[in-house]
Amino acid sequence: SSSDTSPNPDYGSKTHLAGETAPGERMNATFVTLARNSDVWEIARSIRQVEDRFNRKYHYDWVFLNDAEFDETFISVTTALVSGNTRYGKIDSYHWGFPDFIDQEKAAAVREDMHERKIIYGDSVSYRHMCRYESGFFFRHPLMMNYEWYWRVEPSIELFCDINYDPFEFMVKNKKKYSFVLSLYEYVDTIPTLWDSTKKWIKNNAQHIADNNGMEWISDDGGETYNNCHFWSNFEIGSLKWLRSEQYISYFEHLDKEGGFFYERWGDAPVHSIAAALMLRKEEIHFFNDIGYYHVPFMHCPTGAEYRMEHKCHCNPSDNFDWNGYSCTKRFYEMQKMTLPEGYEKEQ
Ligand code: GDP
Ligand code: MN
Repeated sequence: SSSDTSPNPDYGSKTHLAGETAPGERMNATFVTLARNSDVWEIARSIRQVEDRFNRKYHYDWVFLNDAEFDETFISVTTALVSGNTRYGKIDSYHWGFPDFIDQEKAAAVREDMHERKIIYGDSVSYRHMCRYESGFFFRHPLMMNYEWYWRVEPSIELFCDINYDPFEFMVKNKKKYSFVLSLYEYVDTIPTLWDSTKKWIKNNAQHIADNNGMEWISDDGGETYNNCHFWSNFEIGSLKWLRSEQYISYFEHLDKEGGFFYERWGDAPVHSIAAALMLRKEEIHFFNDIGYYHVPFMHCPTGAEYRMEHKCHCNPSDNFDWNGYSCTKRFYEMQKMTLPEGYEKEQ
């Protein structure tokens, strides 16, 4: 129940009829969304689809984070839509701002230059704070500390197929730590020195590199250069314990000091992806082929006509991005020595 004095209030604690609820245990997991008040109607669309396709039977919690206070409309609309408990957190300004070691003039000059070169979000300060926050802080927000697993949801996404099992439970039972639905090549102009910075960290942190890691997915020459493959982080189901680990924090803090969140425009997607490829064992990373998903401009429509019918998918398989030349998902199959899903050739 909610209380004005609780530092960690639940909004609209829900009760459910037995018939509306999938049997079985629940994992210690939550959905998490970073959003502005102005995103309310776009996140409402996302929540409605996540609920219809999955959460209406599972009632997982949902944490909303914002650099400003959430307003009454945002809280009431999202609380009404989520079948689990909702929590609303304001981000500490220390985690959403320039660290003191950043040279403001240098950062401003970069934004000006990227603006002229028309690099997407290249002139944006808030986008950089967002990428740094998603890279290094969301998983240690006080509201997130109660949980071990997260599923990230952004505004305006779509889910195309019924999810008739619990993906969190799948992650736990199969010892997965990180997962994705779409992968692609990063726009190099946003990360020119990210790999050099990463190599510096690797050199001093050999003890943090996993055996049987996913290096071959991110580098075609044994780590000399980055091939720009990354998991698209607007969808993620993953382990918060891993992100809070000494290894991950060491990597994030190293990158933060390097300054590339501000002197370039490093995204949280390549940061999470490189970390996962280096610090996790290959088999700890999972591709959810069965979760049909869209975030502008790419779609993951599950390969396999029978699966799509059985799960009432409403995506057009010819819009599927996976077997397109700009996707890194085929490389992921190769690394895992998995056979490509049946029917992929027809959907190329
Ligand atoms: P894109 O997917 O890379 O085009 O970036 P988005 O605009 O979708 O931003 C990524 C996520 O961060 C979304 O969940 C946004 O709602 C959120 N976000 C982006 N900028 C801000 C911001 O300035 N404040 C807050 N609170 N959230 C933001
Ligand atoms: Mn987005």
